[in-house]
Amino acid sequence: MGRSSADRDRSLPQPPQPLVSPVIDTHTHLNVLDRSLHGDDEPDADQVLANAAAVGVTKVVQIGCDVEAARWSVDFAQTRPDVAVGVAIHPNDAARTVQANGHEALEESWRIIEELAADPVVRAVGETGLDYFRTDEAGRPAQQESFRWHIDLAKRLGKALVIHDRDSHDDVISVLESEGPPSSVIFHCFSGDAQMARYCADQGWFMSFAGVITFPSATDLRAALALVPDELVLVETDAPYLTPAPFRGRPNATYLTPLTVRAMAEARGTTEAELAPLLFANAQRAFGAW
Ligand SMILES: [Zn+2]
Ligand SMILES: [Zn+2]
Repeated sequence: MGRSSADRDRSLPQPPQPLVSPVIDTHTHLNVLDRSLHGDDEPDADQVLANAAAVGVTKVVQIGCDVEAARWSVDFAQTRPDVAVGVAIHPNDAARTVQANGHEALEESWRIIEELAADPVVRAVGETGLDYFRTDEAGRPAQQESFRWHIDLAKRLGKALVIHDRDSHDDVISVLESEGPPSSVIFHCFSGDAQMARYCADQGWFMSFAGVITFPSATDLRAALALVPDELVLVETDAPYLTPAPFRGRPNATYLTPLTVRAMAEARGTTEAELAPLLFANAQRAFGAW
C-alpha cells in the first residue's frame, strides 16, 4: 500500500549541520510543543532548547501570545537565562475575543498581559499587529485597537515591539506611525516586498526572516532580504509553524534555524560565517542584551 496524506511523516526532521557561529531564534512558540501542556507525545521544551544549542542556536525569544501562553512563558523563563520572552494577545485572538465575549473580555486579557509584561524576563510586547488573512472585515477594528494598545504598552515599559503583519502591510505601518513607534520595532516573519524592506530600513525597524525564505516560490521575499541593511536583519523559526525546506509538512523547532540561516546567507550573497555573528548581535540590540 502506498502512503496516503493521512499517514504522512509528522516526526521531527534530522538535525542539520551545526552552525559555525551561534545565532538566536528571535521568535518561537515553545509552549505549543511542550509536554507539560500537551501530554506525553510532545517533546519537552528543555529538550527542544538542548537540541537547538547542539547546532549553535544558543538563545531564543519565546513568544506567548494569549493569556495562558504568556503565563507559561514568563514562568518558564524564570530559571532559563537563555530564554527572553514576548507577551501579547495575538491579533486574531483579539478579534475573536471581542466577537465571542465582548470588549470587556479583551480589556481583561490586556490587564493580565500588562501585569506579566512588567516581569524582567519579558523583553518584548508581541506578537501584536494585524492579520487580514485570518480575520475578516468585522474583526479589524478590534485588531487595530488592540494593536494600538500594545504599541502604547511597549512604549510605557520601554520594551521592544514584535509585529505580526499578514496581508496588512499598509495598515500596520499607518497604525504604527499614527500611534508613534517605540524605539525597537521588529517585523516578525517579514513578508513585505523590496519596497517595504527599504521603507522599514529607513525607519530603523528590524526585519526577521523565518523558514519561508527557503521556499522555492519565495523569490520576492529573497529580493527584499537582499536589501535589508546588515544591522537590521534577524532570523527566527516561528516554530512549530513555517518549517523550512526540505521538511515542509513536518513539525518545526528551533534546532532547524541553521537551514534558514544558510538560505538567508545565499540570498544576501554572503556566507554563514559572516551572517551568523550579525544575526546574534542584532538580536541582542533588538531585545536588549541577555
Ligand atoms: Zn505571527
Ligand atoms: Zn508567532
